[in-house]
Amino acid sequence: MRPLFTSCSVALAALIAAPALAGYAKAPIDLAVSVTAPRQHVFYVTEKIPVTPGPLTLYYPKYIPGEHGPTGPIVNLAGLVFRAHGKTLAWHRDPVDMYTFRLNVPKGANTLAIDFDFLSPVGGGAFTAGVSMTPRIVDLEWNQVALYPAGLPTAKIVFHPRITLPRGWRYGTALVTASNNGNTHVFAPVTFNNLVDSPLIAGKYFRQVNLAPDSTVHRYLDMVADYPQALDIGDTYTRDYRNLIVQANRLFGSHHYENYHFLLTLSDHTGHFGLEHHQSSDDRINADIFLNKQTLLGEASLLPHEYTHSWNGKFRRPAKLWQPNFETPEQTRLLWVYEGLTNYWGEVLAARSGLWTTPDYRAMMAYYAADMAHRPGRQWRPLIDTTIAAQLGYASPHFYANWRRGTDFYDEGALIWLGVDTKIRKLTHDKRSLDNFARRFFGMDNGSDLTKTYTFADIVVALNAVVRYDWSGYLRQRLDKTSAHAPLGGLADGGWKLVYSATPNPYEQARETIHKFTDVMFSIGLTVDKKGKIDDVLWQGPAFKAGLAPGMKIVGIDGTTFSPAALKRAIASTTGGRNTVIGLTAKAQGVIQHFTIRYTGGIRYPHLVRVPGTPDYLSQIAAPVRD
Ligand SMILES: [Zn+2]
Repeated sequence: MRPLFTSCSVALAALIAAPALAGYAKAPIDLAVSVTAPRQHVFYVTEKIPVTPGPLTLYYPKYIPGEHGPTGPIVNLAGLVFRAHGKTLAWHRDPVDMYTFRLNVPKGANTLAIDFDFLSPVGGGAFTAGVSMTPRIVDLEWNQVALYPAGLPTAKIVFHPRITLPRGWRYGTALVTASNNGNTHVFAPVTFNNLVDSPLIAGKYFRQVNLAPDSTVHRYLDMVADYPQALDIGDTYTRDYRNLIVQANRLFGSHHYENYHFLLTLSDHTGHFGLEHHQSSDDRINADIFLNKQTLLGEASLLPHEYTHSWNGKFRRPAKLWQPNFETPEQTRLLWVYEGLTNYWGEVLAARSGLWTTPDYRAMMAYYAADMAHRPGRQWRPLIDTTIAAQLGYASPHFYANWRRGTDFYDEGALIWLGVDTKIRKLTHDKRSLDNFARRFFGMDNGSDLTKTYTFADIVVALNAVVRYDWSGYLRQRLDKTSAHAPLGGLADGGWKLVYSATPNPYEQARETIHKFTDVMFSIGLTVDKKGKIDDVLWQGPAFKAGLAPGMKIVGIDGTTFSPAALKRAIASTTGGRNTVIGLTAKAQGVIQHFTIRYTGGIRYPHLVRVPGTPDYLSQIAAPVRD
């Protein structure tokens, strides 16, 4: 592995000019993590840091790359003890920055020993602050289990990590294993940047699949699971994930890792998300994804999305999202590129690799176009404000999400990039596409993992090199302006139009099954869980106007008890104005009330239909790229 340096040399130079601390680069910090009884949800940590006597400041990582905010799970750190020269040392926490610890190293000491426990969550929490440990699985992000000294860039601090796992467990990681000693696995020394960038999954049930058997650059699918059958990926999905490697190579024309590991946790008991890294991704998903076609349909773009991040987010990164250590605040204005473009290509690559058929891809596109078309919050909040305040958006509640907007830069960002792709195809009469931008912007320095930062101006220059156009004006209009309408111009330019019908959308059905809810947002304007609890209500939609609100529990529909089927039947009864009202009884906060929804539109599921006489760019975009 190579250290990750970036073009941000000014900030780096300022920090390197701390000569007294240069020793950390030469003498690695010893980090020993032990997890022998995962059912108790504890990582036991011992750290040994070379020191010299005097004041010392240590940090717990705060801004976690990929989580785009100050999300380091410090609330789970406990049992902290510092020892040096035979003494237990007093310490105090900074009263302003609670991720900072200060102490005095006594005379004669050259090593500081630190013991602490990381109490791995048993419920709740988002991303890596969520459930990461079960009796059969351990998912470790190393930022959870390390303190590091202030004064040097984290690319200059070297760690020597090891982990002790339950007997017989196997593991996957992009770290290089130096030795295995029984249940203790020792890794080659690595910079703190790369350590935080190299999670580890381990489990009782583990399987590794080689996704590039004919290449000297290895790409592995490492899997841990609740039960052995979940690891049964089968020939078809193995072929599709191998296609993903091939199609990503053809899209970007480069790779920016030595080897790559998809670290896939198949569990119904851990949190579910993906977190990108340069040479791996921490992907956590339902246990049955390879056993249940509907689960795969709903989640097919997860691995393509996280893989795309190796190029878009890790190799190329918005300038203000790169920082010299994990305490310096990140600025997230360009997340519509980092996440929006990754969303777009993650979905395109899911189709090009065969994980989705072209109709699957269209069903997904129809769903997200409809979802973004039901975002009245765009009237008060431009998309750029959701990126600037991303760290609030990830943590914001889901109720009235359509009015507050949250993290719309994923799905609306993808629609904007579809617009850019189809616009390039139109302007160049099919000679060029966003694939040309991909090669230009991400395809340089093949094999290098040295992060290159970029600005908005760099994006515009690269687009103009593909085809000249007012790209700055095009993008700024969609990013900075409020609007009553979603940016669906890319669909129209791609030859398709969003419509609604009573025929279910299979992608939406898969989402309903996976997430155990009923989605009638596009008809009466609400989503509801299996037991009738309302998750969200469309701002000023039919249900909102009737007085319904998130958090209420629907108990009766037109005189019958609640069930998802009864709700959909009642909505369907309004088709063509045959019925004009739906009566709902709901209870909330100790009060039961009756509500009358005035609605005549019937059930509405989103679909795309061809616009006659236009080129079908959308199908061309979804088709595999030939050599
Ligand atoms: Zn992402």
